[in-house]
Amino acid sequence: MTATLITNIGELTTNVERDGDPTGLLRDAAVLVEGSRIAWVGPAADAPAVVSHTTTLGTPTTGETSPVHRDSGHRRQSRGADAVSREDDGGATRVVDAGGRAVIPGFVDSHTHLVFGGDRADEFEARMTGTPYAAGGIRRTVAATRAASDEELRIRLAGFVAELHDQGTTTFEVKTGYGLSVHDEARLARLAAEVTPEVTFLGAHVVPSDYAERRDEYVDLVVGEMLRACAPHSRWIDVFCERGAFAADESRRILAAGVAHGLLPRVHGNQLGPGDGVRLAVAAGAASVDHCTYLDDADVAALAGSDTVATLLPGVEFSTRQPYPDARRLIDAGVTVALASDCNPGSSFTSSMPLMIALAVREMGMTPAEAVWAATAGGARALRRDDVGVIEPGRRADLVLLGAPTRVHLAYRPGVPLIDRVFKDGVARA
Ligand SMILES: [Zn+2]
Repeated sequence: MTATLITNIGELTTNVERDGDPTGLLRDAAVLVEGSRIAWVGPAADAPAVVSHTTTLGTPTTGETSPVHRDSGHRRQSRGADAVSREDDGGATRVVDAGGRAVIPGFVDSHTHLVFGGDRADEFEARMTGTPYAAGGIRRTVAATRAASDEELRIRLAGFVAELHDQGTTTFEVKTGYGLSVHDEARLARLAAEVTPEVTFLGAHVVPSDYAERRDEYVDLVVGEMLRACAPHSRWIDVFCERGAFAADESRRILAAGVAHGLLPRVHGNQLGPGDGVRLAVAAGAASVDHCTYLDDADVAALAGSDTVATLLPGVEFSTRQPYPDARRLIDAGVTVALASDCNPGSSFTSSMPLMIALAVREMGMTPAEAVWAATAGGARALRRDDVGVIEPGRRADLVLLGAPTRVHLAYRPGVPLIDRVFKDGVARA
């Protein structure tokens, strides 16, 4: 089994609560990875003794003031992500000298719509010059997606997966919802399942134009034949409960049908205005209700008394010029908050979790620590995953070495590539 000791970590976000800090921050830390799992976490000075070759990542390129310790002798100098580890023949532990960098869990992006065809840059451009966002734009992507071959969609999806990884995202969810026919929803679910176990059936994204005058028939299709075709490839059932999409009674019926087929519920709600999405999600025991931009006090109280995560998607507000959700109000009420990208071609065509963190801090009243937690452990909660989002023995070795001495830089240096190295299941890729 391969083993890697990452040492000389200036600041380690573990997300294992410690002394009242939910992010369990450790300074001058080390992490031992064995195979795909984390084996040990603690102060660098107490790290298990290993026979090793050392890779030194050098000083974080952006961290002039970082504490960089030079206390081990066996190293070679190299810089940043160009560093390449050497492994010896005897199965010795590889040592990665983080050079004082901050290390965080890999991002968990619990909400994306990455299987689609076409492009809506023209719509974005029009919106930025005064045309308001309307949910109907989804139908354009539906037409382009239906016209795309499996191979075209697969190649595009692979590009997005690489893009996510390069930005430090190690777990992600993908929704269907741009097929909206039995055949197309099933192939989107199948394609998504090729790249992630977190596949969500979202046949109830909008009523497609071919059913515009027959919405009851469309809901019958979603809960019947379409659900049967998609359930084998999916873990989740989702519904866009919003004016212009699906009403509360339709949404309830759709979630219940998914649950009856063994899927777990999650909801898009309260994005464009006040509505029933949050209370419906809580009543259904949904893992997450996503958007949560327009909430009344009863919505906040319902969330606070539940296991349902409020997943905030600030890329949407950024890209549609809408008011941001009030994260501070939710956190102060005791609600568990996650951040996700909602990457999709209409309302948020970014997959950058560092951007979500920067927006959450700048626009939504979250502290940098809360935002990093929400983008890692919060996303894991929203996907009901206990193997990711946390750095402690036994969890998956999904880690990000930042090109910065602290995680604060993710919000402090928006738009700057700060992901130096990503470990996914213990395997490092620059
Ligand atoms: Zn969405």
